[in-house]
Amino acid sequence: MMKINSNYLNLEESYLFSTIARKIEEYQKENKDAKIIRLGIGDVTLPLAEEVIRSLHKAVDDMADKSTFKGYGPEQGYGFLRDAVRDYYGSYGAKLESTEIFISDGAKSDLANILDIFHIDNRVLVPNPVYPVYLDTNIMLGRNVTFIDSNMENGFLPLPDESIPADIIYLCSPNNPTGAVYTREALEKWVNYALKCNAVILFDSAYESYIVDKDLPRSIYEIEGAKSCAIEFNSLSKTAGFTGTRLGYTIVPHGLVFEGVSLNKLWLRRQTTKFNGVPYVIQKAAEAVFTEEGQREIRANIEYYRENARIIAETLDSLGVWYTGGKNSPYIWLKAFDGMTSWEFFDYLLREANIVGTPGAGFGANGEGFFRLTAFGNRENTIEAMERLKRLRNKA
Ligand code: PLP
Repeated sequence: MMKINSNYLNLEESYLFSTIARKIEEYQKENKDAKIIRLGIGDVTLPLAEEVIRSLHKAVDDMADKSTFKGYGPEQGYGFLRDAVRDYYGSYGAKLESTEIFISDGAKSDLANILDIFHIDNRVLVPNPVYPVYLDTNIMLGRNVTFIDSNMENGFLPLPDESIPADIIYLCSPNNPTGAVYTREALEKWVNYALKCNAVILFDSAYESYIVDKDLPRSIYEIEGAKSCAIEFNSLSKTAGFTGTRLGYTIVPHGLVFEGVSLNKLWLRRQTTKFNGVPYVIQKAAEAVFTEEGQREIRANIEYYRENARIIAETLDSLGVWYTGGKNSPYIWLKAFDGMTSWEFFDYLLREANIVGTPGAGFGANGEGFFRLTAFGNRENTIEAMERLKRLRNKA
């Protein structure tokens, strides 16, 4: 008899977004005139940049002409895009080779797929709270995961703990859900720790483009030694609005050698066997992101979201509410008012201010008592929501 992968039965059912949707629906049914503002949205809302659309259209035309038509492309991505990513990283001091860059259909798939090249016995360290994909992809394979506490005391930026052994370490900066960003000194500690115990860091930099503070690292490869211990996952989803278009990239440096084996070679073998590349037209669209005009246009969109984040952060500052993020990140992670739990605060905001956010408890036990707001909404709604929050707080 065929047996299923019973590890899937060990996954915790995620009711987070379905519960939020149900609560909003119920509230709206009873309060037909309520204008609910959604600040829980984790998806971009602005369209692709004009330069990206131009390149996408031209690539479609290429496919219609026998002389420019493309069939299968290289599994690891076209050279033009790998070179563009290399130059982008080089522009802020992270020196890479094109052969270290692998183009994919997004960071989520690669974060899951990378586990193919690691032995099942590895000890995995995951911060809590965290982007749920890190945990669930390991559970699906039957791995136990150890959590490291991310909390108010460490500013939701945990540092290595010598007493917790680890072989695979997940880090996400700027962080989803907390918006907290590691400093150079903190990342140096992680890199040194990984080098010392021969661990690999899986560094998720999906929100790197929201960092404007020049002192904060955008890539782990800005840290000395990281090219011997870290794999980085990045994406155009939140940088250039590719959440529906799908394009990411994973960097596996040649310096990553474990048990005498190059991880770059293993990953190449994995990709050439199990993946047939990202569509040519999407890679051409992505190439436009890295041109001067493309960068100018996507920066304008990022600045729009960053301004929303600033408005939220400024409001919380004025109300004396504790939070992380909001300055170099599209996420703002705040402490629920008056000791409420995450869900009590969700209900309170929905009922009293018609504002929707995401309960922190949905991202892990340490998220209890916290709440995530995002900057991906539109400006008018963000301003209106913050006015409502001020009125609510001043009334309380
Ligand atoms: N990593 C983090 C931390 C995310 O928050 C997300 C998406 O929300 C992803 C990765 C997934 O990115 P992609 O759209 O490239 O799959």
